[in-house]
Amino acid sequence: MKLTIIGSGYVGLTTGACFAEAGHHVVCVDNDEAKVASLLAGEIPIFEPGLEALVKKNVSAKRLRFTSSTEEGVDHGEVLFIAVPTPPQADGSVDLSFMEKVAREIAQYLTSYRVIVDKSTVPVKTGERVAHTIRRHAKPGVEFDVVSNPEFLREGSAVADLMKPDRIVIGGNSDRALALMQKIYEPFMAPVLVTDINSAELIKHAANSFLALKISYINALAEICEISGADVLKVAEGIGADKRIGRSFLNAGLGYGGSCFPKDIAAFIAISEQLGLPFNLLKEVQSINNRQIDRFLDAIREALWVLKDKKIAVWGLSFKPNTDDVRCSVAMTLVERLVAEGAVVSAYDPKAMDKARELPVAAQIRLTESALEAAKEAEVLIIATEWPEFASVDLAALRETMHTPLIFDGRNLLDPAAVRDFGFQYRGIGRGVVA
Ligand code: NAD
Repeated sequence: MKLTIIGSGYVGLTTGACFAEAGHHVVCVDNDEAKVASLLAGEIPIFEPGLEALVKKNVSAKRLRFTSSTEEGVDHGEVLFIAVPTPPQADGSVDLSFMEKVAREIAQYLTSYRVIVDKSTVPVKTGERVAHTIRRHAKPGVEFDVVSNPEFLREGSAVADLMKPDRIVIGGNSDRALALMQKIYEPFMAPVLVTDINSAELIKHAANSFLALKISYINALAEICEISGADVLKVAEGIGADKRIGRSFLNAGLGYGGSCFPKDIAAFIAISEQLGLPFNLLKEVQSINNRQIDRFLDAIREALWVLKDKKIAVWGLSFKPNTDDVRCSVAMTLVERLVAEGAVVSAYDPKAMDKARELPVAAQIRLTESALEAAKEAEVLIIATEWPEFASVDLAALRETMHTPLIFDGRNLLDPAAVRDFGFQYRGIGRGVVA
C-alpha cells in the first residue's frame, strides 16, 4: 500500500522503515529541512538498534523515501499517519498546535479520499478535533476519515516492538478506513483491537500511566525497604512472580523520565481535570517519581557533606539504555542539579554523547571517551542509566582510578557483594548501605 508518515522523528521514521520492510511504499515527511537533507544523504539522525540497516535496505529497494513537502506526502499516501510532537505546556496539558497545523496542511492538499491517522499520543477527543479541522479547511465534498492508532514502541527496542507488537489498537468509526488499516497491519500478524476513536486515544494514556504507576509503586516500596532493612530486588521478585502482577516495570531506581512518561502522565492528569474527574492517584505517582531524585541527592550529600568542588562521575546520560535520547532524562536532570551545587562533573554515555553535547549543561561538565576516564579521581561514581556495559566494568581498574571507592547506583545495576569485594562502598536504591 502507499503510505505517508508526517513527522519523521523517533516514531515516524521507525514506523516508516518498518512499514516499508513489510512491503508498503512509504514516504516520510518532515518540515525540518536539515533532518530531511541528512536522511536523503543516508544519515540517520537518531540511534535505534537495527534502524539504520532497515532504512538503508528499504531506501535501496525504493520502498522508502523522504521529503519536506507535505503536499507530496498527501498526494502519495492512501493513508496519512501523523507522528508529530505533542509536548506538554506549563500546566501539564498537551500542546496540540503541531497536530492542528498538520491537520490544516493536509486539508489544504486533499483532493481525494484519504485516511488520516493520529499516531501521536493525544488527549481523548483529539480525533474529533482533527476531523473537524480538516472538514473546515478542505475543499467541499472531498472525502476522508480520521482514525486513532496510538503507538506503543519503546525507544531502545523500537524496531523490534514495531515488527512484533503485543497488540495494535485501531480506533475508528468508518468500515472503509478500518479495512485499510487492517490491511496495512496484516503482514505484522499481531493481535488487532478495533475500538471507537475515543477509546483508542484513552488506551495510550491509560497504558503509560499504568506503567508509571508500577514504577512509582516499586520506588515507594524501595523507600520502605531502605528504612526497614529489606532488599527491594527480592521484594520485586517475590511480588512479580505472581502472574497477576508481573515482574516488568518493578525496577526501583531514579524514576521514570524520557520524552513520553512524564508528559503523558501530566497530560492524563490535565485531561481528567478537564473532564471534571481529577485523577489523584496519578498525582501521587508523579510526586513519588519527583522525590526519587531528591532522596538520591540527599544520600549523596550525606556521604560527601558538601558537593561544591567535589569530583563526581556520572555514568549514563540517556533516559534509558540502548537509545541516544536525552529528552527529559533523569540522568541529565541529576547532572544539572549536581552542577548547580558546584560539583565538578565528568560524564560518559555509550551512545548519547552527541545529543548531550547539544544541551546547555554540557558546557559546564567534562564529557569523556570512556566510563573509566569519567571515573578518574572521582570521589563518587553515580550510575544514572543502566547500560549493560557498566555492569561488566573492570572493578579493579575502577577502584584504582577513583579517588574514593564510593558508588551510588541509581539503577541497581551492580551486584553489591561483588563491588564490596573490590573495596567499594555501595549504595543502591532500596537496598540499604553495604559498607
Ligand atoms: P520527535 O520529536 O522525535 O519527532 C517529531 C517529528 O515531527 C520531528 O522530526 C519534527 O521535525 C516533525 N514535525 C513537527 N511538525 C511537523 C510538521 N508540521 N510537518 C512535518 N513534520 C513535522 O517526536 P517522537 O518521539 O517521534 O514523538 C512523536 C509522537 O509520538 C508524540 O506524540 C509522542 O508522544 C508519541 N510517541 C512517542 C514515543 C517515543 O518513544 N518517542 C512512543 C510512542 C508515542
